[in-house]
Amino acid sequence: MTCQKIFSIVLCFFLATCCNAQTPQISKVSYVDTLFENASPLWYEVDANGTLQVYLTYDHERNSPNRAAGHVHFCVHGDAGKNLRIEFNNLNNVWNGTPGSVAKELLSVAISEDGKEWRSFPLNPTADGRVFGEFLLKSDRLFVARVEPYRLSDLDRMLNRLRGHPDVSIDLIGQTVEGRILEIIRLGNERSRDHVFLRARAHPWEAGGNWVVEGVVDRMLANDKDGARFREKLCIHVLPMANKDGVARGRTRFNSQGKDLNRNWDKPANSELAPENAALEKWIEKKIADGHPPDIALELHNDGNGKLHISRPLEGDTTNYLERMELFESLLRRHTWFSEGATKPNFRNPGSLGEGWMERFRIDAIVHEFNCNLIASTGQRPLAMHWKEYGSQLPIVFEEYFKLREH
Ligand SMILES: [Zn+2]
Repeated sequence: MTCQKIFSIVLCFFLATCCNAQTPQISKVSYVDTLFENASPLWYEVDANGTLQVYLTYDHERNSPNRAAGHVHFCVHGDAGKNLRIEFNNLNNVWNGTPGSVAKELLSVAISEDGKEWRSFPLNPTADGRVFGEFLLKSDRLFVARVEPYRLSDLDRMLNRLRGHPDVSIDLIGQTVEGRILEIIRLGNERSRDHVFLRARAHPWEAGGNWVVEGVVDRMLANDKDGARFREKLCIHVLPMANKDGVARGRTRFNSQGKDLNRNWDKPANSELAPENAALEKWIEKKIADGHPPDIALELHNDGNGKLHISRPLEGDTTNYLERMELFESLLRRHTWFSEGATKPNFRNPGSLGEGWMERFRIDAIVHEFNCNLIASTGQRPLAMHWKEYGSQLPIVFEEYFKLREH
């Protein structure tokens, strides 16, 4: 062998080793598990570059062009210590009859090796309107979720914790389309003058509201001076999971008859197609008949903006209502990390619980969105702990609201 040949072999070996060191080690995908509680329905394939292409499944609204995908919850099985690029497809939602991609709101996910301890992870847009993330697999499993998951089993754990507490009652108000029991939790003093209503999880992907509720419950029942005062002064009613069927099935927006539970509140609920709303409507009508309607109602959601939706019907004088909402917003800013602000004064969303309850029952009701990607005041990407912290500060907001509202 000539010197020249030996030299080229050595050079080739050197180059190969060098290039190899710089080439990312791409994990193979042995499986994507979606057969567990609250996992999202989807299909997938691994493309020629080794990228995992995830195709979310839309759910559809009855008698409507509306469709929604955006709930993300699955578990990738791959190689520990290697990288995996995941791209998300089918983001072309239709909302209020208008096509619009959810890509602009899908800016981060929560990830976890065990499905219990979660951290936030940023996503990036692709040139053709999808989004992707590049993940390092720390173990041979990676759970990926749109927001830190809150499942029916999490709710059951909370309900079990509450049963038997002297300042709590749990009323069964009806059933979902698929027969799951709907409950309203009462926290605090039933004879209080000041009543609040909270509803979470009308839209199944939006788990943030459930974490807020957990924070409210913990603060209301804390064994300290403030907790005792809140329980004496306030009566907070909570419907913690309106769309249980959707949460169980890992759907995005609609119930099991294709109805949006944050729509059609401008008329009586259809008990066949939306029994979840019919049950709540019966409950609220009884509260009104008994002389104890809620003074303020919050409908808790997630989106990519995190605003208070101060919408109301056009008829009638709403000056006092707008003043009260201004007060409420200022107290949120004072006592919580809220800084996202309210929608424009002319904002309307007919049929939402906020506008429908205002119109039909004259109850101050607001849709409260929580930005799933960012807490504006702190720059953090939100996880369960941030939403629980927010919920833990709501009782003081309500207490001051009722005090100041009188002046
Ligand atoms: Zn929503």
